[in-house]
Amino acid sequence: MKPALQVMKFGGTSVGDAACIARAAQIIAEAARAGKCVAVVSAMSGVTNRLIEAAKTAQSGNAQAALAILDELAAKHASTLETVVKNTADRARVSEKMKLVFAEGRRFCEGTALLRELSPRTLDTISSLGERLSAPLVAAAVEERGLPGESVESSELIVTDDFHGGADPLMNETRVKSQARIFPLLEKGIVPVVTGFIGSTLDGELTTLGRGGSDYSATILGAALDAAEVIIWTDVDGVLTADPRLINEARTIPSISYREAAELAFFGAKVLHPKTLKPVVEAAIPVWIRNSFAPEKRGTKITPGGGSSTGVKALTAIRDVTLISLGGPGIVGLPDVVGRTFSTIAEVRANVLMISQSSSQNDICFSVSSADAERSIEALRKEFAQDLKHEKVEHINVDPNIAIVAVVGENMRGTPGVAGRTFQAMGRENVNIIAIAQGSSESNISFVIEESAVKRALLAAHREFGLHLPTNGN
Ligand code: ASP
Ligand code: MG
Repeated sequence: MKPALQVMKFGGTSVGDAACIARAAQIIAEAARAGKCVAVVSAMSGVTNRLIEAAKTAQSGNAQAALAILDELAAKHASTLETVVKNTADRARVSEKMKLVFAEGRRFCEGTALLRELSPRTLDTISSLGERLSAPLVAAAVEERGLPGESVESSELIVTDDFHGGADPLMNETRVKSQARIFPLLEKGIVPVVTGFIGSTLDGELTTLGRGGSDYSATILGAALDAAEVIIWTDVDGVLTADPRLINEARTIPSISYREAAELAFFGAKVLHPKTLKPVVEAAIPVWIRNSFAPEKRGTKITPGGGSSTGVKALTAIRDVTLISLGGPGIVGLPDVVGRTFSTIAEVRANVLMISQSSSQNDICFSVSSADAERSIEALRKEFAQDLKHEKVEHINVDPNIAIVAVVGENMRGTPGVAGRTFQAMGRENVNIIAIAQGSSESNISFVIEESAVKRALLAAHREFGLHLPTNGN
């Protein structure tokens, strides 16, 4: 029988310094001894940000400052290499490879500074240097543990569209290329260590999958290689019932469904890149979130069904949001108000997080990220200028001091009483509800409250649904 394949991804903090890389290599080596394993790695933490800064600095014309950033990163990687890799031949080889990557980075920064122009294509090339440096480091660290490792650039594996800075995979092409490159390595007992974040177009142009995209790389490869499971190693114990900075009795959720995880990813529990689960849905490949700093812990398993727990699984809160409401008795019966409101918002590319409208039609209210608020309001005032003048629309109000709380759980569907219990708990704690929305999928009840009440609201709901109580692995 073919041993099951695991694809495991290590995020930036999990390869953040020499000690972290050693821990990651240990986890990879153990998995590779027990079965087959493909590792996918992010850049060392902070590196991608610095590279983007270098690219932007070059764009402003300051080549020297951009190159200084690259020098600083070169020193950081060189010293990490020294600590991680003792074998002198391996060390020399990785060092040579790093020099080539930095030389390429220098050329692109110099070119950018000369032209004072930074195309999305060039930004992809510069911002992805970090993964091309961390993968050889981790591969060498695996070798230090007595297993053959080989770093592989994912531009050889993942074929994408040409949307630079946020590309999506072409799965059929990716499948063919990945299997052709990776399976022979696995057959020979070599552990492939793949750069996360990176792909390339059909024409061979390098692309990136968007910030935090290494999670996505891992599930794309998991699907392309028919993996038995994908493990996302990170710096938290898994998906939690609530933000532990606010709720100290928050617990790790043992099992959660794709849909619940996606709702939580969207609503700001930033454990996963929002597109992460897309590639694995069809093949129903389980995805684990585990802590590389505490590998003895089980973590959270994400599956299609998400275990058998009843009702509410987790709570999230988004705080940097603004509530916009538009209305007045005059809008009753103005049939195009809703349409005009949202096409105006779409024109300024603001992301609408939640919408609610009373059936009396006196008022439409919705929330957007605070970063999008100003341009949304300006656009609305312009669009409705005439209506405001003639008092058809009486107000466009803005409230930045709000937060959205979401109660998430797939099995809430058809479980009566969840909404009732939620709002009763809020009432008990004197939390004033400003607006409510429940999608018809019923896996999420969202409501708007004053920002100052967030902690109280979360704690009340957390207790109400017993999320602080130990579950036994559902
Ligand atoms: N290094 C990339 C970033 O920081 C990709 C990743 O870490 O997932 O966005
Ligand atoms: Mg990351």
